[in-house]
Amino acid sequence: MDLTTSYVFDAAHRIAGHPGKCAWLHGHTYHLDVTVSSPTLNPLGMVMDFDDLGEAVRKAVLDRWDHATLLAAGDPLGPAISAVQREAPDRVVLLPGEPTAEVLTREAWTRLEGRLPAGVTLERVVIRETPTCGSAISRPTA
Ligand SMILES: [Zn+2]
Repeated sequence: MDLTTSYVFDAAHRIAGHPGKCAWLHGHTYHLDVTVSSPTLNPLGMVMDFDDLGEAVRKAVLDRWDHATLLAAGDPLGPAISAVQREAPDRVVLLPGEPTAEVLTREAWTRLEGRLPAGVTLERVVIRETPTCGSAISRPTA
């Protein structure tokens, strides 16, 4: 049985090298959906407690990305923004690729996967930059 929870976070990003407007620093209100599953329910009839999943998502993703600037590791904006936001060095997050919805979804998956309780499986992570544009990763079917 599946369990899905939804979260919202705000962040700035840019896609350096993009031929259009995405190359300029701008922000999104991102929507994150996380689906987990378990073949059995716990004694309370749950896959897992919503609050426990929310805590895992907060620690894995939201605490790091909410109100942060998300950039590729080599983006020169990273050091520039860090220099003027010295009081909040953790608010510039450098990623192993341009901070597209796809890269953020993959990162969220990786960060969440190890934070789930035993017996609970990460099934799907969806990140939408806008109501109509987003990316998803689903666990491969065996
Ligand atoms: Zn964007």
